[in-house]
Amino acid sequence: MNIGILGLGLIGGSLGLDLRSQGHHVLGVSRRESTCQRAIALGCVDEASVNMSLLAKAEVVFICTPLGLIIPTFEQLISHLPSNAVVTDVGSVKTPIVQAIAPLWDNFVGGHPMAGTADSGIEAAIPNLFAKNPYVLTPLATTSPTAITVVEKIVHDLGATLYHCSPEEHDKAVSLISHLPVMVSASLITACMNETDANVLQLAQKFASSGFRDTSRVGGGNPELGVMMARYNRQALLNSLQRYRHQLDELINLIEQEDWVTLEQQLQSTHNARPEFVD
Ligand code: NAP
Repeated sequence: MNIGILGLGLIGGSLGLDLRSQGHHVLGVSRRESTCQRAIALGCVDEASVNMSLLAKAEVVFICTPLGLIIPTFEQLISHLPSNAVVTDVGSVKTPIVQAIAPLWDNFVGGHPMAGTADSGIEAAIPNLFAKNPYVLTPLATTSPTAITVVEKIVHDLGATLYHCSPEEHDKAVSLISHLPVMVSASLITACMNETDANVLQLAQKFASSGFRDTSRVGGGNPELGVMMARYNRQALLNSLQRYRHQLDELINLIEQEDWVTLEQQLQSTHNARPEFVD
């Protein structure tokens, strides 16, 4: 198949590596000429250009630009595409994207691969990024069944685990397990930074080990991505943050009351529940 990738960074580049290894002909479009050349050199694409007209021969296009650019990029892309081309995106938030694009293109299927690394840009592209990770599709009742089947087949061949849900359900779920953790982890780092005793702060920095590494990882990631999550998934994230604040208040209460029995019951229930989210 001729598959177009618009936005050659971590996700777009990684996708290109896997699609080419399966024998697809990959056409890449990115903003910078240097990125296009690098994508060819790294084997992420067969052809690359800064001009969207390269995608006129694409049967399927993956939009992999930063989140805030997906809708304007699609609006520019339309005039270059054959009317039967299937379009999908990889954006981490689905409702605003699906609401804007689906009415304009029956062959549009919203998507979100739940995979990534701390790095970005074409140099960060790696093979098999999606294998064994969830890949969520958010088609609507109006989405062309043929387009859904085409995207499902590609996702299946990436070795990813396919899920379907509505854009709204997707955004609520990722606000809990992806966007809330970024804000919680960032707050943890800020709380530590706000220690006013310079000696204690220095000791904390020296003593920090695996526990702090795990809990601070997502809060110390790409700031742009965090702002995008808050901006485009604002209401769901606010609901999750409020739920979290309530939980913190409950914990403070238990500790102030020295209610160790209830605290242990709570920690036992989180100990039991964690494997239902991650192994
Ligand atoms: P990234 O590494 O920064 O890649 C995005 C690429 O898009 C950049 O390398 C840039 O390439 C290109 N670009 C920027 N503006 C463009 C434009 N106007 N036209 C064409 N290309 C443009 O970001 P990413 O992590 O791959 O994320 C891309 C998308 O994947 C986002 O929508 C994000 O929500 C989603 N996503 C990310 C992750 C993750 O963990 N990172 C996971 C799942 C989904 P140039 O060098 O040419 O400027």
